Amino acid sequence: MLQEQELEAYRRAGKLLAEVRERIRPMVRVGESLVRIAEEAERLIQEKGAKPAFPCNVSLNEVAAHYSPPADDPTVIREGDLVKVDLGAHLDGYIADTAFTVATDEEGEKLKEAAERALEAAIAAVKPGAELGEVGKAVEEAARAAGLKPVANLTGHSLSRWTLHAGLTIPNTHVRTGQRLEVGQVVALEPFVTGGAGYVEDTKEVLIFRYLRERPVRLRMTRELLRDLKKTYNGLPFAERWLAKRMSKLRLRLTLRELVETGALWPYHVLVERSGKKVAQAEHTVLVTEGGCEILTA
Ligand code: MN
Ligand code: MN
Repeated sequence: MLQEQELEAYRRAGKLLAEVRERIRPMVRVGESLVRIAEEAERLIQEKGAKPAFPCNVSLNEVAAHYSPPADDPTVIREGDLVKVDLGAHLDGYIADTAFTVATDEEGEKLKEAAERALEAAIAAVKPGAELGEVGKAVEEAARAAGLKPVANLTGHSLSRWTLHAGLTIPNTHVRTGQRLEVGQVVALEPFVTGGAGYVEDTKEVLIFRYLRERPVRLRMTRELLRDLKKTYNGLPFAERWLAKRMSKLRLRLTLRELVETGALWPYHVLVERSGKKVAQAEHTVLVTEGGCEILTA
């Protein structure tokens, strides 16, 4: 059970992140660059006295998640793109996590609206004692009512201090989990919907990492980088882009790859929809209360 002080930290993180999201939303339009969106979101989070809980993700079309643009990414939003922006902030480890979709055509608008309706349905299903699969059922029904599918292998999650995925998995499909919601839990609800197969797959590309453990490494520079990553992010995810000024791109990529291969870092592979179809997402962080839930990122 959360202390009143912890609850206040979650509420403050949620509120400031919602303000950042609403500042960023009008920026997400045709002609804008992905790097500028991500950097502005992260800058605003820091301006409000918080830190990014993970790199701002700006994922286009069939890319569902884990795309945080590299520093030299020339990509700009084009007519027809479906854009998902997923952002997180933390105050001393207390994390808020929210995401939205911006459509630039009619097909995208339908997906975006379905994701938002699925999120509303998930929120309405949250109450103490609810089986986690009931939340998934609400998401799946909302997606299917729009003639779409939820992405089955992307899920919501509980949050705890310094931990983004804290143990509970909130399905986006009707499955039986044997686990129930309890008062005081902080959970991120994040339905993804698509007109495709409804599954995502790993690509080879990795732009986001997380410190896992100390491992022997050959070069002193790499050793120092690893120690620094552990201290700076305290186990929360970071972006390749955040390290771009430290060394050349080639050297940075080789160093990060070595640290992944040795087991020191966890790689978040860019995830794409299996059938190559567009994906929309909506996400809020909520607190489970006696009467249902309180939306922390409203
Ligand atoms: Mn998120
Ligand atoms: Mn999340």
